[in-house]
Amino acid sequence: MHYAFCTATLLVVASLVLLDASASTMHVTASVETEPVDAPGDAADDMCFWVHPDDPAQSLLIGTNKQGSLETYTLDGRRVHRLSGMRPNNVDIRHALGNEGAIDLVAVSDRADNSIKLFRVDPDSRALLPALSGTGATGLEEIYGICLYRDGNSGAAYVIPNSKDGTVQVWAITFRPDGLAKLALEAQFHVGGQVEGCVADDQAGVLYIGEEQAAIWRYDLRVLLGGGDIERSLVDTVQPNGQLAADVEGLTLYLGEAGTGYLIASSQGNHSYVVYRRDGRNEYVGTFRITGSGTIDGTEDTDGIDVCPVDLGPGFAWGAFAAQDGANEPLGQNFKLVPWERIANAFDPPLSMSGADMRD
Ligand code: CA
Ligand code: CA
Ligand code: CA
Ligand code: CA
Repeated sequence: MHYAFCTATLLVVASLVLLDASASTMHVTASVETEPVDAPGDAADDMCFWVHPDDPAQSLLIGTNKQGSLETYTLDGRRVHRLSGMRPNNVDIRHALGNEGAIDLVAVSDRADNSIKLFRVDPDSRALLPALSGTGATGLEEIYGICLYRDGNSGAAYVIPNSKDGTVQVWAITFRPDGLAKLALEAQFHVGGQVEGCVADDQAGVLYIGEEQAAIWRYDLRVLLGGGDIERSLVDTVQPNGQLAADVEGLTLYLGEAGTGYLIASSQGNHSYVVYRRDGRNEYVGTFRITGSGTIDGTEDTDGIDVCPVDLGPGFAWGAFAAQDGANEPLGQNFKLVPWERIANAFDPPLSMSGADMRD
């Protein structure tokens, strides 16, 4: 009897919490959380999904511990590998790059020496192997965010690191016959304020970047790399005029078919994720939060996010959304995974669940 009473009370409390929240904020729960990173305080930051070429269940989450290591996890949350000896802040991936699409390339911003680090994922061992010829030195004052870009028209690949002071660089990537990548600086510009989170849309040829205290900007990479002027437009601003609560942190793209899908931003100041249309003028779609359920807590103060729109094996047949959790007490910070259909179906009307192949 006592147990039943407690359960009823908890249900009432839970529904009050839901009623209290903004009417436009959807709530979802995570189905997996990774082992915590092995460092106290602010440590975990960003992540990306690596999709196995043949067996979705062998796919990995690649995450950063900015206090000292790049880590990989199975999609049921177990740590597979830990690469020490660097201070990786952000991480991004492009599948099937390089000579004849041979390389799944991972880029990391390393705060230890303000460098770009490149790795490839070996599909047999699932290890991260060095993939850069050279030091990756950027000359940036304080390297922070990073993302990859593959021009959907030309196939040319680029890595785009930024510095905390708002400087953004675009480096062209070419591959030597032995598969190692070489970097050459192509462009540099300044956003205006502190930046970090960024993501490139390969098909649209644009860079989305968060100015942490202010806004999300959209830069035309094809115009910039073609030698033209810097052209940018505003996607959204912080409240009260926009949907975001500073800091604007991680950005990611849900890649749907034919250029459709969603741009998603971590709105760190109110522990939520803001969804915009990928196409058109990036119209606002809605906002969601990851709340606690059972043994897995919700997410707070999220830095990096990532979304994968394809089958990732048992539990993630429609892909997955990942978020860094800034508060995973009493343990260290970690990463939460939410099946994409939970997020898609939390919206009315539901978000799309037909993703594009990551390897195309
Ligand atoms: Ca930040
Ligand atoms: Ca939490
Ligand atoms: Ca961060
Ligand atoms: Ca937890």
